[in-house]
Amino acid sequence: MHERSIAELIAARATGEFSAAELTAHYLDRIARFDDGLNSLITRTDEAARDRAAALDDGVGAALSGIPVLQKDIFCTRGVRTSCASRMLDNFIAPYDAGVVERLDEAGMVMLGKTNMDEFAMGSSSENSFYGPVRNPWNAAHVPGGSSGGSAAAVAAGLAPAATGTDTGGSIRQPAALCGVTGIKPTYGRVSRYGMIAFASSLDQGGCFARSAEDCAHVLGAMAGFDERDSTSVEREVPDYAGQLDGDVSGLTIGLPTQYFADGLEAESRDVLDAAIATYEKLGARVVEIDMPHTDLAVSTYYVIAPAEASSNLARFDGVRYGHRCADPVDLEDLYTRSRAEGFGAEVQRRIMIGAYVLSAGYYDAYYLKAQKTRRLIADDFHKAFAEVDLIAAPVTQAPAFAIGEKADDPVAMYLNDVYTLPASLAGVPGMSVPAGFSNGLPVGLQLIAPWFAEGRLLNAAHAYQQVTDWHTRRPPGFE
Ligand code: GLN
Repeated sequence: MHERSIAELIAARATGEFSAAELTAHYLDRIARFDDGLNSLITRTDEAARDRAAALDDGVGAALSGIPVLQKDIFCTRGVRTSCASRMLDNFIAPYDAGVVERLDEAGMVMLGKTNMDEFAMGSSSENSFYGPVRNPWNAAHVPGGSSGGSAAAVAAGLAPAATGTDTGGSIRQPAALCGVTGIKPTYGRVSRYGMIAFASSLDQGGCFARSAEDCAHVLGAMAGFDERDSTSVEREVPDYAGQLDGDVSGLTIGLPTQYFADGLEAESRDVLDAAIATYEKLGARVVEIDMPHTDLAVSTYYVIAPAEASSNLARFDGVRYGHRCADPVDLEDLYTRSRAEGFGAEVQRRIMIGAYVLSAGYYDAYYLKAQKTRRLIADDFHKAFAEVDLIAAPVTQAPAFAIGEKADDPVAMYLNDVYTLPASLAGVPGMSVPAGFSNGLPVGLQLIAPWFAEGRLLNAAHAYQQVTDWHTRRPPGFE
């Protein structure tokens, strides 16, 4: 069953080939068999999943009735621990469901558990987790990427047909690339942030992972839509993404930004991307080179804005209202400082310090305000590019998955890893990673970026590619 696409699973469910209970049991069995070696889940919800699948088998089916899904542990799930991979929230049982969780529930999906990630979604490797690092199913000594590494690894290993993720600066696209699955980060505002634990609110965007663009289209269609509980949610109709896929890219103009194909991109990954772009040309797309002159400002801009927003968002974790509280505080200050020092890991503390610094009265203009201005320049690059092209094609990462521990002691090396994913996040445009080949036996992703709210075009372009290639169907050895 885990070999089938979501469309095939929906069809098989409709003909009664198997029940939701059987499908759920199959995936729970794979989780039990494989997850110990991957550490892709923080919390398993086997019993609730079985009960829900059985109930769905008794009722009338919604669009995705009985299709299993994993939720990144950043989404609040009522009655289920929602840890954000932090010791701070290790004891937090969310009292309500996130908007995304509600919607996928309404669509009939069955949650199998909550996936591992970088603490508070800060990271590019899924090593910054209170629950230990996630492993890449293609090579267990390597990282799966981050921060949504548990979701990407689980989908790659066939532990679920789909999983949710969040992308603030690349956390869907980058792990999708490094694990060889398809992932989409929609336009900022497309998917509700209600109940999605905040990292950097002006950048955070929910999205999903699945094996193919078509499967992503099914899940995104169910996740997306206006939510009045999220003040930046956009009231705009959600197209029938899956229904509109026709795999036709003839006549599309695809831009290749010079700055993304410059030094730093590994030669083998470059060959993979060149072949993918040649495939688009064969399919009738026109490929042109474009200039995005402010690309190299993205890393410094992001690593001012994201920590600034994080330091403000994370102020709520103070040991008083919920979350970790230190033992025997002597006074209020001791309660705050020890609870936060014990509850947050090193990377989260680093971000809080940077954020508090760049927002402080003496440095606000020099850093935070400046970063807001350079953010605008980066967004302008996209405005100009999309006046000429329909889509942008680019690498997701400079190289395939690095080894666990390789960059753990060098935060700057880790940050530089995000160079190709940050610009789209800063501009708020939708982006995808599509499996495009291998380098040294590890997956390489092609990044596709579309204008604001053109998720349908993005998914269709990825679908066209997947109609004539089979990279997205490859399985890591041992997980067949
Ligand atoms: N790697 C980036 C960071 O560490 C992006 C993470 C994300 O998208 N959540 O902040």
